[in-house]
Amino acid sequence: MLVDNHGRPLNYMRLAVTDRCNLRCFYCMPEEGIKYLPQKELLSFDEILRIVSITAQMGISKIRLTGGEPFVRPDLMELIRKIVKVKGVEELHITTNGILTAPHIGELKQLGIKSVNLSLDTLDAERFKMITRRDEFKKTWDTLRQLFENRIDVKINAVVMDGKNIDDIVPMVELTKDQPVTVRFIEEMPFNGEGNHYQKLTWTHNKILSYIKEHYPSLVKLSDPAHSTAYHHQVPGYRGSIGIIAAFSRTFCGSCNRIRVTAQGTLKTCLYDDGVLNLKDLIRSGEPDAMIERALLKSFGSRFKDGFEAEKRRTSQVTESMSTIGG
Ligand code: SAM
Repeated sequence: MLVDNHGRPLNYMRLAVTDRCNLRCFYCMPEEGIKYLPQKELLSFDEILRIVSITAQMGISKIRLTGGEPFVRPDLMELIRKIVKVKGVEELHITTNGILTAPHIGELKQLGIKSVNLSLDTLDAERFKMITRRDEFKKTWDTLRQLFENRIDVKINAVVMDGKNIDDIVPMVELTKDQPVTVRFIEEMPFNGEGNHYQKLTWTHNKILSYIKEHYPSLVKLSDPAHSTAYHHQVPGYRGSIGIIAAFSRTFCGSCNRIRVTAQGTLKTCLYDDGVLNLKDLIRSGEPDAMIERALLKSFGSRFKDGFEAEKRRTSQVTESMSTIGG
């Protein structure tokens, strides 16, 4: 088993396949977008597959494709077809905003995709437009419907934003009544691509939970799967569950099993660090697998204790867009 310097097992890699996105969610990037990487700076599919196969040999058996919006990358399905065949990869998951996803759901099911995390912050088309700066609610909703119909395990990710989507919390909990879906409410983080519009977090995980409990006094705490970032609860009698993610309060670092590779091939061993290894350079300079493995082991052996330490050790303040990191 792959274990870091704090004794935490590592088995999960989040891979950003692009930094581009077809939405402009205000908590993620400015209205005019971010400066996207030139094509040649992105990892190629072959480079991604090389990283997947090296890390799979080391014990990283769970992969999540994210971005940017993964389905914006041309021929994403080609990559997915190859990743599921890599020896040692046991689970493939995708995080998507759902806009371009629906046509691929049948094949995703066929390929054995383990789950889809769908980002959806509101059930109201007007609010969707205000938050994402794009009028695409119908497409995301249609994807959600088709995921349900195809019985693909779905989690909905909703960032909770003061003054923006608080009225959506109860309707989103209600989605769990008839569907076996987990709706996850996430604390807003400062990864918004512009830094200074992030104010003090008001909707903390405690406040989100209190708000839900006010509306559902009989809410039951469920046990949380190992390494889960979410605290799970359920309304008695409802099919699905809710999760609350203390993404900014960072209460779950002690059991963190994940690493990230950004779209430009930088390894991050914590969401809050500013990159600990340039994998793309190692690959492009022709290093053999054994050397790359050694460099990875060195990084895994010097992980920060938690997201606060990682943030403190950065060379610059957190201002980058989550789209460049692969949230
Ligand atoms: N485009 C895909 C999507 O929308 O699911 C994948 C990438 S997106 C960056 C991944 C997740 O990060 C989404 O669920 C999004 O809501 C979340 N996210 C982005 N910026 C965030 C922020 N500042 N705070 C909390 N979550 C954020």
